[in-house]
Amino acid sequence: MSKSDFGLIGLAVMGQNLVLNVESRGFQVSVYNRTTSVTDQFIAANPDKNLVGAQSLEEFVQSLATPRKIQIMVKAGGPVDAVIESLIPLLDQDDIIIDGGNTLYTDTERREKYLSEKGFRFIGAGVSGGEEGALKGPSIMPGGPASTWAIMQPIFESISAKVDGVPCVTHIGEGGAGHFVKMVHNGIEYGDMQLICEAYNIFKAAGFSNEEQAAIFADWNAGDLESYLIEITANIFKQKDAETGKDIVDLIVDKAGQKGTGRWTVMGSVEQAVPFSTIAGSVEARILSSMRDQRKLASGILQGPDNWNFDLGSLSKEELVKKVRNALYSSKIVSYAQGLDLIAKVGKEKNWGLNLGAIARIWRGGCIIRARFLNHITEAYETDANLTNLMLAPFFTKVLNSGQQDWREVVALAATNGIPVPSFGGSLSYYDAYRAERVPANLLQAQRDFFGAHTYERIDKPEGEFFHTEDWPELI
Ligand code: NAP
Repeated sequence: MSKSDFGLIGLAVMGQNLVLNVESRGFQVSVYNRTTSVTDQFIAANPDKNLVGAQSLEEFVQSLATPRKIQIMVKAGGPVDAVIESLIPLLDQDDIIIDGGNTLYTDTERREKYLSEKGFRFIGAGVSGGEEGALKGPSIMPGGPASTWAIMQPIFESISAKVDGVPCVTHIGEGGAGHFVKMVHNGIEYGDMQLICEAYNIFKAAGFSNEEQAAIFADWNAGDLESYLIEITANIFKQKDAETGKDIVDLIVDKAGQKGTGRWTVMGSVEQAVPFSTIAGSVEARILSSMRDQRKLASGILQGPDNWNFDLGSLSKEELVKKVRNALYSSKIVSYAQGLDLIAKVGKEKNWGLNLGAIARIWRGGCIIRARFLNHITEAYETDANLTNLMLAPFFTKVLNSGQQDWREVVALAATNGIPVPSFGGSLSYYDAYRAERVPANLLQAQRDFFGAHTYERIDKPEGEFFHTEDWPELI
């Protein structure tokens, strides 16, 4: 039997779909899963495919052409180390291991160092798009040595999503660059989802029916906000429950899950001192949603407006829709500005040589955040690769300047009516702080000097000269 072009370990939902994708592009694929009955079932379910099902890791490794290309798709964390350790004695120098899971990028850096010292090659690749992306074409974010990427490029390009004929994969950078960018991508996904949920919450509180909301989101999807998430949201509002005939969205418990990549991204932003209000707001919103019992208890104790039935006053429904659209669009720009800022900062520190325009380009297809909007980000970085902040690119500046008044009115309306908008509001505060020539940190510096002699600079003295006030008034 001929040797396989590609091998995959871990036949859960992502692994199985990726294997079928790779095979469909004309490659022979060997597969292995710890629980071998899963392998048997997978092979039996796909009798006409060019697959080799291995019962042992030895058999799996022997079935692959060299240099071997082995993708691991197992649970992130310890299982990836366990699989690597069992592979090491079976591999030849220069064989390639690819970790395609949602791995923390620092783990990828550790594994790359460990494996390269042993003479093996390692790629940490973020794979986006869930089950459907894995099968039909994901967005792939590979990190590692350029020479290893060059070997993997034909397979990755053939299995990835394509937009305008361009594959949604590029070599992100050395080391953990791929998994780092995938992590921030997931954080951005959290932000995009939360912004849509905040728009929904306002519409619901203003008395819009699900049918009306299906139409609003479908309409938005025909314009600048066109994106996978807006499109599926329109469809969600149309779905009836088979058992009760009611709208399914109204029957789903308001308690969100999360697997941790959003939290990792926020932790990364704190470590790097990058403001991250939109995505941080989205992570907090999920956490608060999961505190359902406390929310139920507090709703009968802590007072505020009844946020399920607010009066639009003189505002028409059409005007509200337009204002909320502008609030969402503006907040989305801030979210991407913050996410890209984090990517740029870490990329610089790690010397990854990142191309932010190319990163936005590979997110246009095969992933959950795919959107028309990303074309404008690519254009912005193609025009100025050293753009200080996405909000300062002329296209986005124009959108923000024309939408900012509506955005404020929506945040004010939400606050007045007791509707939580952590990501709309956090984004607006970032926008206002970023554009503020003067912020209240003069008082903060005075406080620091008062209690800790931390010193301050003065507006009437040269920058870089520090002063301390010896005789702050004594406390009585
Ligand atoms: P998963 O539920 O994360 O992992 C299950 C797979 O891991 C099974 O094949 C399991 O083998 C294997 N496994 C677990 N512990 C193992 C160990 N100690 N040694 C060997 N194998 C072990 O699967 P998934 O949802 O397909 O995800 C795979 C990876 O892709 C994860 O990193 C995930 O975060 C990432 N990812 C998932 C999605 C998604 O939508 N699901 C999207 C993007 C990325 P057994 O059958 O023997 O238990």
